[in-house]
Amino acid sequence: TPRRIAFIGLGIMGSPMAANLVKAGHTVTGFNLVQAPIDKLIADGGKGASSIAEAVKDAEIVITMVPADPQVEAVYFGEEGVLDNAPAGALLIDMSSVTPQISQRVAAAAKEKGLRSIDAPVSGGEAGAIEGVLSIMVGGERADFDEAEPVLKALGTTVALVGPSGSGQTVKVANQLIVAVNIQACAEAVVFLEKSGVDLEVALDVLNGGLAGSTVLTRKKNNFLKRDFAPGFRLDLHHKDMGNLLSAARAVEVPLPTAALVADFITAMRNAGDGGLDHSALLRNLERLSGK
Ligand code: NAD
Repeated sequence: TPRRIAFIGLGIMGSPMAANLVKAGHTVTGFNLVQAPIDKLIADGGKGASSIAEAVKDAEIVITMVPADPQVEAVYFGEEGVLDNAPAGALLIDMSSVTPQISQRVAAAAKEKGLRSIDAPVSGGEAGAIEGVLSIMVGGERADFDEAEPVLKALGTTVALVGPSGSGQTVKVANQLIVAVNIQACAEAVVFLEKSGVDLEVALDVLNGGLAGSTVLTRKKNNFLKRDFAPGFRLDLHHKDMGNLLSAARAVEVPLPTAALVADFITAMRNAGDGGLDHSALLRNLERLSGK
C-alpha cells in the first residue's frame, strides 16, 4: 500500500533512496539543508518542504538519512524537529549510521510522544542506493519492523530485524569493520602486485574469482586501477564509523586490533587533508608509506 513518507537528508544516499520510494508508488516529501536535491526529488515526482516540521506534518512514516550523531540529534530533538512535529502514531526510521546510544535515545523519546522508532542503517553504497539493492539492518520492535519492511523493500534486497533498538547500528559497525579491513587488504595487494610487475587488472580479476574475491574488490576495482577517489563513501564518514565501532567494542571489552590499525590509517588520511576522498583512497596512504 502507498504510504505518506517524509524523507529528511537527501545526500549521496538519501537522494536516490527517496527516488526509489517515489518509484514504488509512495508519496514522498523531502527536506534537505541544500536545495538542489529537493528540486531533483520534485522533478522525480516527489514533493519538497522548506523545513523538517513541514515535511513531517502529515507523514505516516519519517525516514532520516543524515551524516552522524550531531545531525540526528538536531533533526529529532532540535526545535522544529521530528519529535515535536510528527503526527501521533508515526513510525520513525533512522537510516543514518550512528551510535546505538542515539538510536536508543530517539526510540525512548519517540515512545514518550506516542511515536515509534527503529534504527535501519544500510550497506551497499551509492550504487546499492541507486539500484535499490541495499542491505538493511534493523533494530527495534517486531511490530514496527513488520510495518517498515514493505517500505524498506523498495530500497534494499536484504532487510532483516537483528534485535532491539540500537542493534541495527551494532551490525552496521561490524559491516564497516569488514569493509575497512577489506579495502586495506586490497590496497596492500595492489601496491605489492604493481611493484612486482604483474598485470594489475588481470591479477585482480583472477583473485576476485577465488576465495580472495569480495564485493569490495568488485565495486572498488576501478577506483584502485584508475586511482579515482571521488566519493562514493567519504573517509570522513568511515572515520566516524570506526570511532563508533571502537567505542562499542570497548563497551563489551572486545579487542579489535586490525580494525584499530586501519582506523588509525583513516585518521592519518584525514590529517593529510584527504577526508573528502572515497575510502578506496586508503590505497593512496599505502602508496605514500611505500614511497610512491
Ligand atoms: P551526505 O553527506 O551525502 O548526505 C547527508 C545529507 O544530510 C546532506 O544532503 C545534508 O544536507 C543532509 N543534512 C544534514 N543535516 C541535516 C539537517 N539538520 N536537516 C536536513 N538535512 C540535513 O552523506 P551520505 O553519504 O548520504 O551518508 C548518509 C548516512 O548514510 C551516513 O550516516 C553514512 O555513514 C551512511 N552511509 C553512507 C554510504 C555511502 O556510500 N555514501 C553507505 C552506507 C551508509
